Amino acid sequence: MSDVLAVVEHRRGSLRDVSFELVTAGADLVGDTGGDLHLAVIGGDVDAFAEELSLAGVDAIHTVAEGDEFNHDVSVQAVEALTEELDPTYVLMGNTVNGLDYAPAVAERLDLPLVTDAIGLQNDGGLVVTREMYASKVESTVTVDAERAAVTVRPGEWEAAEEPGEPAVEPFAFDLDESLVRSRVTGFEEVGSGDVDIADADVLVSVGRGIEEEENIELVEELADALGATLSSSRPIVDNGWLPKDRQVGQSGKVVTPKVYLAIGISGAVQHVAGMKGAETIIAVNTDPDAPIFDIADYGIVGDLFDVVPELIDQFQ
Ligand code: FAD
Repeated sequence: MSDVLAVVEHRRGSLRDVSFELVTAGADLVGDTGGDLHLAVIGGDVDAFAEELSLAGVDAIHTVAEGDEFNHDVSVQAVEALTEELDPTYVLMGNTVNGLDYAPAVAERLDLPLVTDAIGLQNDGGLVVTREMYASKVESTVTVDAERAAVTVRPGEWEAAEEPGEPAVEPFAFDLDESLVRSRVTGFEEVGSGDVDIADADVLVSVGRGIEEEENIELVEELADALGATLSSSRPIVDNGWLPKDRQVGQSGKVVTPKVYLAIGISGAVQHVAGMKGAETIIAVNTDPDAPIFDIADYGIVGDLFDVVPELIDQFQ
């Protein structure tokens, strides 16, 4: 029997999607061995959140009425106190900006090993975690050599739980040490996401270093217009300041999953591929027949983009 404590997340009055995915991940894990799934809701409108989280597979929801928004120091103390009270075998958190902010501190305070960015979890007489390495090129299986562990789970890897249930909702009070609360959220400032979100586009025309000069980007823009597509790019284009950062596809840019991804003058480096390998159809234009982009392309044109792109524009206009 292994009990699981999953710590949900909310922001500006709404539960984040990862909260419902944590429920599925936690329920699967207790399903392997038996045990109870506990949720912790820290801060915000905890009663409303508990109602939304009353889902099948959840045994108990522990509400901690402390503050409105995520707070590192409050979260660390609350999870530590809850873990001492409930004694779960596994503590699950989101592999998110918030989760990665406080999970290491929780693990350190509770003297637990921490496995980050899990994409699969199994309890097979011990915790077995699937993770990705080398910009998603390799999947690794980590066997945790400890009886208890803390894990952060990658958003989007588990289905969001939806089926209603009837868990017990229990307010949890603990002695918050205010002297250890060294930060507070005092307000929010939205970062402008530019005029388009490439992650929403059905068709992306993506330009790489093969374009040579900033003024040549216009040519690829013309192709994007002809196709009714959105323009994106590899990192060097953004590093050169030729397109804004929100157009960058890849490991340090955005992950995109369009129906069609047209890679123009892009070599297909692993860091780029990590952001676009989920596209339904990949078409590549490159002068180099050995460019790695052709390894993942569904259709490839070996040719000079300065010949091929005008031809494509003519065809689609
Ligand atoms: P290149 O690799 O220089 O490729 C240009 C391609 O254009 C070549 O294949 C060439 O054959 C072809 N070409 C040249 N002339 C023509 C022509 N006339 N017609 C047709 N084809 C032509 N990169 C990203 O893209 N996104 C990321 O998020 C990202 N994150 C990174 C994070 C880290 C930590 C690191 C270390 C690197 C990251 N990179 C990222 C950089 C990545 O390693 C590559 O350097 C980058 O993707 C290369 O971009 P590119 O394909 O446009 O350029």
